[in-house]
Amino acid sequence: MSLDGGSALADLQYEVKSYFTDSNRFEFEKPVGSGSYGFGLLFNEKKQGGTNQRFVIKRAFHGQHYLMQESDILHKLEHADHIVNLVHLDPNPLEGNDLEEGILGPYIIMEYLENGTINDFTFRTRRVGVPNRVLAWIFLCLTRACIGMAYPPGVNPDGSRQEEVVDPSRKPSSLAHFDMHSSNLMFGSVDPSSREHNLMPILKLIDFGCSSERETPILPIQGVVNSYDIPLNLAQYRTQGDTSPGVQVNIKDIANVVILLAWQRIFASDPELRALIQNQASNPGLDPEMRLQMMRCIAADPENRPKLDDLVTRLQQVVNDRRTAGNNTPGSPESDAAMQRYVQRYVLNAPVNLDRRGG
Ligand SMILES: [Zn+2]
Repeated sequence: MSLDGGSALADLQYEVKSYFTDSNRFEFEKPVGSGSYGFGLLFNEKKQGGTNQRFVIKRAFHGQHYLMQESDILHKLEHADHIVNLVHLDPNPLEGNDLEEGILGPYIIMEYLENGTINDFTFRTRRVGVPNRVLAWIFLCLTRACIGMAYPPGVNPDGSRQEEVVDPSRKPSSLAHFDMHSSNLMFGSVDPSSREHNLMPILKLIDFGCSSERETPILPIQGVVNSYDIPLNLAQYRTQGDTSPGVQVNIKDIANVVILLAWQRIFASDPELRALIQNQASNPGLDPEMRLQMMRCIAADPENRPKLDDLVTRLQQVVNDRRTAGNNTPGSPESDAAMQRYVQRYVLNAPVNLDRRGG
């Protein structure tokens, strides 16, 4: 069935493209990376009124099961701001085809996130580092993504989306992402109307192909509790409130990402991360409150990891404190103006390695 003379992957790509032949409405831009089991194709939809919407169609190359699982999860989380959003095309050229028996098979249509991954950002900033205020923003966005997974938001009566907030009247879900790394976190756009994303673009979690409910409690390795949690007395910071094994997995995983970014590392094992975070001399400029939260998040005993409401409150405080200090200190690299220049240079304007990108 090779219509373009290429590989099986090229055949599949050709097949998807063949549904988007209305050149007045759609323009194919390029293939984009889309996780371990599939591929993505970037299109631009020219809408009436002159606006454009770019979107990615993701299809499984092998392992359709993962794509269907991911589609399921993205539908459950479709109102969460810090999770990649589904796009609903109207009309959708793929609809009405027999997806089970037809040649197309399952697919996901999602938004295109244009400003690259945390991995890209780590490379871009390797010479200049990441200011505490930026780290705190990123840590806060990642915490919001965890809240979105634990308490999937809905919509308000006026149709607006609910924020990702901890709802004490609900039990947190046990959904764990299980593939949280710097290439699965992507920057969207700056939103001048948003309190948390008016200077720094929102960060979103992508690629839920490995995600599942983690129901069984995490059993800590006692030797690590003895050598890490107990000497740091992490139990003293425990707060009341609900959590779940899935939340505890996610909290540790987001902290891994933030610690690696703070130390400008690409990879570190758990023992290395725990050694880094305890070695103050290795990163003396790191905000002490943020260091403490990172330390708690990677506790060996999951009960010593912070609850989501506690973590989000503490990180909001760090963001507020850094803003106040930055704006009140002449020449500070963390003033609003300095942050705007930093974000423009290292997030918004930076070249992105398109081959490694997800959608
Ligand atoms: Zn955010």
